[in-house]
Amino acid sequence: MKIICVGRNYRAHAAELKNEVPKEPVLFLKPQTSIPIKGQPFFYPDFSNDIHYEVEVVVRIKKVGKHIAPEFAHKYYDELSLGIDFTARDIQAECKKKGLPWDKAKAFDGSSPVGKFVSKEKFKDMQSIDFQLFQNGEKKQDGNSKDMIFSIDELISYISGFFTLKIGDLIYTGTPEGVGAVQKGDRLEAVLGGEKVLAIDIR
Ligand code: MG
Repeated sequence: MKIICVGRNYRAHAAELKNEVPKEPVLFLKPQTSIPIKGQPFFYPDFSNDIHYEVEVVVRIKKVGKHIAPEFAHKYYDELSLGIDFTARDIQAECKKKGLPWDKAKAFDGSSPVGKFVSKEKFKDMQSIDFQLFQNGEKKQDGNSKDMIFSIDELISYISGFFTLKIGDLIYTGTPEGVGAVQKGDRLEAVLGGEKVLAIDIR
């Protein structure tokens, strides 16, 4: 099982990090070990002093596919959730400056908690999915999939041109604006279409 993440998929978030709006999806991978063991908190890693949350809609792939046309992409998933793409922003800034890969900043142990999956039937339109992230009860990110630069189906199609998608693979579809730092003792909660699907403590 692999995790494919999309970077800079919302204009306002690209702008807040002073990145260009991409002409094609920005992809990176995370290993299975980036998903914390069920029920465990997020352990703040000692190699960073600037861990940020990024809440993202997560799609779970339900059948094997390669070179999937956008019009058939909807047949490859039927469940969604929210995940957090934890990012060591200090390490990432260093990597970007040197033109090096981001892996240390993004793919470390426990960096990709994912919530409870819900059927996509719950949503009338994949391009109108509301989601929020709360930090200690305060709303920090408020997104809607309509603001994605590349839609879920376009992403599945694009990704499958490079990586064969397999059952259980997860796609993190990018974060809206409002990313910020976490501290030990924080609690993050994520709400998808009005339903709380994820809660995680930072230790
Ligand atoms: Mg992200």
